[in-house]
Amino acid sequence: MTACKTARRFLNRTGRGGTALPGKIAMALDPKVLREASRGMQVILVTGTNGKTTTCRMLEKALEESGKDCLLNRSGANLLSGITAEFVCGTDRKGRPEKPYAVIECDEGALKQVVPLVHPGVILVTNLFRDQLDRYGEVMNTRQQILNGIRLSPESLLCLNADCPLTATLADEVKNPVVFYGIDVPAGDQTQRKISDAKYCVHCGTVLSFAHYTYAHMGEWACPSCGNKRPCPGTAVSAILDMNPDFSLVELRNGDRVREIRIGLPAMYNLYNALAAICAGTAAGLPSEALAEASGSMSACFGRMEGFRIGEKNLQMILVKNPAGLDQAAEFVTGSREEYDIAFCLNDKTADGHDISWIWDADLEKVVKDPHRKAIYVSGSRAEDMQLRLKYAGAGEEEIILEKKPDILILRMITGTRRLFVLPNYTSMLELRKELLKTTGGVEFWKG
Ligand SMILES: [Zn+2]
Repeated sequence: MTACKTARRFLNRTGRGGTALPGKIAMALDPKVLREASRGMQVILVTGTNGKTTTCRMLEKALEESGKDCLLNRSGANLLSGITAEFVCGTDRKGRPEKPYAVIECDEGALKQVVPLVHPGVILVTNLFRDQLDRYGEVMNTRQQILNGIRLSPESLLCLNADCPLTATLADEVKNPVVFYGIDVPAGDQTQRKISDAKYCVHCGTVLSFAHYTYAHMGEWACPSCGNKRPCPGTAVSAILDMNPDFSLVELRNGDRVREIRIGLPAMYNLYNALAAICAGTAAGLPSEALAEASGSMSACFGRMEGFRIGEKNLQMILVKNPAGLDQAAEFVTGSREEYDIAFCLNDKTADGHDISWIWDADLEKVVKDPHRKAIYVSGSRAEDMQLRLKYAGAGEEEIILEKKPDILILRMITGTRRLFVLPNYTSMLELRKELLKTTGGVEFWKG
C-alpha cells in the first residue's frame, strides 16, 4: 500500500496524473489489496453505459449533505487498477479505510473483478446502450458481463432502470433483492423512433412494443408474446412540470411519497441520472432531503455533451450558452490529438437570450490556431455574427463555411471521416438533435 501511495505522489508531482498505475503496482504486490482497503466500508457501485459519472457525483453530494464522508473515484479511472488505486490512497497508515462510504463508478467489464473484492451494499445499473462502434450482439455481451458481476454478490441490493428493457430484465436472472426507478410519463417526440438498442425481448426474442417513449430506446415497454414488461418503479418521475436549458422541475414519487423536486441539470437524460441517484441513495439509507438537495444543486461543470455516430464519423455535441462554457468547450476540443472539424451554431431565440455578444468574451483564438483544427462551420440564425467573431479570432474568410439550415449543415458536415465537434447554443442544439436523429435513425447515446 505504501508503494501505491508513493507511486501516486510521484506521478502527481511529475504531472502524469497517476490514476491507474499506482493500483497496478499495489495489485502486483498483493492482488487482494482492494479487499483490505475497502473492508467494512459501505460501497455503492455504479455501472451501465451512460450517466455513471453524473450519477456518482450526485450520490457523493447527497452523502456530503448527510454528513457522511465518502470516497469517489473522481478521476474516471473505472477499471480494477484505477479503483484499487483510489481505495488504497484512501487508507490510513495501517492500511485501514479512512472513510466509511464509497461511491464507485465501475466499467461494465470490470464488474466481475471489482464486486467480489468490495462487497457493494448497492449495485446500480443505469442503462445499456450500444456504444459507438457496437452492434446489437455486443450490447448483449456487455449485459452478460454485468450479470456475471452481479451474480458474485447475490446479497447486494440491485437498483435498475425500469424503462430500459435490457437493464430491467437483469432482475429476472439474478437472486438479488431489486428496486426499480423510471419515468412514468411520455417525453419528447413519440414518433419516428427506430429502436435498435433494445428491439427484442431478451427472454423470447419477440419485437417489443412501446406504450410510450421517454429517451432513446427507453419507455413503457412490453413483450406482446411472453408477458415480459416494464416493472412498476418504486422511484419515479410521475410528472414533468418544466424543462428548460438550466434545470428541470418534476414530480417525484419515491415509495408512497410524492413531492416536487428540481433537478439542477438540463435534459431528459439527467432526469434519469437524478432518478438513479435518488433510487440508489434511498436504497443505501440516505435521507430523501439530502438526495433532493443533491439533485437540485448540481450544475453542469461542462455543459451538456452528447455523442452521435454517423457512418464512420464521430460527432460530439457540446451545449454552450455562455462564455465560460464556450471557453471550456474550446479547451476540450483543442485537447484533441487527432484532426477534427468544428461547427458553431448560434441562435438568438428567447430561450437562448437575444443578446449574443458573449461570444466575444470566449477564447476562440485557441480553436482557430489549433493545428488539429480543420474545417470550421457556422450555422444558426446568427451565423454571420459567429463568422465575424471567428474572423477576428484569426480565421481566414475561405476557412469558414456558412450554412444556416441545420439539415443541410449536417449533410455537409458528415462527409469525410474526421472527428466532428458541434458547439450549439440551446435552441440550435434542439434543431440539430432533431435532424441528427433523423440521420442516425434514432441512435443516440449519452455519457457522463
Ligand atoms: Zn418476450
